[in-house]
Amino acid sequence: MSASIIDGKAIAAGVRAKLGEEVAAFKRVTGRVPGLATVLVGEDPASAVYVGGKQRACAEVGMTPFDRRLPAGASFDQVAEELQVLNADDAVSGVLLQLPVPDHLDGSSLTALVEPDKDVDGLTPVNAGLLSLGRPGLRPCTPMGVMELLAQTGVALEGAEAVVVGRSNLFGKPMAQLLLAENATVTVCHSRTRELASVCARADVLIAAVGRPRMIGADFVKPGAVVIDVGQVRLTPQEAHNKSGLVGDVDFAAVSEVASAITPVPGGVGPMTIAFLLRNTLLAAERQAEGAA
Ligand code: NAP
Repeated sequence: MSASIIDGKAIAAGVRAKLGEEVAAFKRVTGRVPGLATVLVGEDPASAVYVGGKQRACAEVGMTPFDRRLPAGASFDQVAEELQVLNADDAVSGVLLQLPVPDHLDGSSLTALVEPDKDVDGLTPVNAGLLSLGRPGLRPCTPMGVMELLAQTGVALEGAEAVVVGRSNLFGKPMAQLLLAENATVTVCHSRTRELASVCARADVLIAAVGRPRMIGADFVKPGAVVIDVGQVRLTPQEAHNKSGLVGDVDFAAVSEVASAITPVPGGVGPMTIAFLLRNTLLAAERQAEGAA
């Protein structure tokens, strides 16, 4: 079998184009402009690139970007104060603290300070709780992006065996909850899972989010399964066999021979994350406008 490629870049471009129209309509109706604030602490080059991409994407769909930067040595209280200022600013619909923060800071305690209505990363305890209870709230962007890839690929989730490798708060846990909400039968694997390959080989839908280059080989995959590669590790372009240097958790060449559909790295899940960050920002702006009406 030769798997079809799930083109995340094209699907994300479609989501963003539709969002651009929705943002224009929102502005016409409310007279407001959705705004996304990013907070970057320190000078980590990869984080600076991610923040720059979010800022640009935000402007492209007609939203206002707010770029807040603090020095690497900023204290917890300084970052907290910046977050509080943004929480209180009516021009800011969404607030995102870029993770990871420098080692002396506690990223999850800081994230928890973001106002839940502006938590466009969906990572505050309030939004994580709402997801777990199946109630409306802002959902984490990367798992939402994966759900959209599955929907646009026509994958039927009801009753399907879905296996998620990775149990982080950022991705694995919310991914499992979203799949469960669509009535998949979900297994979550992690570093202590026994017989990982045979657990994965049960999956109709296999989603890997570990950060170990090419660990998912053909023996992990049931023939005909749909494979989503969330992993993203930066190697040299020579090691990665591509210009970007990015490599995923899945051995793409080998798994393509077994799966029915597969996401590439780069160009699979990555572009969906920003698209759903923008969508969450519009959603937050809409809820705030309703609240103010
Ligand atoms: P993380 O917090 O480091 O979590 C990694 C997970 O993998 C943990 O649950 C860990 O298990 C599990 N794991 C580690 N080694 C394993 C092994 N040998 N077998 C099975 N499971 C193992 O990472 P994350 O934030 O979820 O991110 C995971 C990957 O996804 C990274 O490469 C990251 O860059 C990528 N990512 C990409 C996007 C995107 O936009 N494309 C967004 C988010 C994340 P334990 O819990 O037992 O330690």
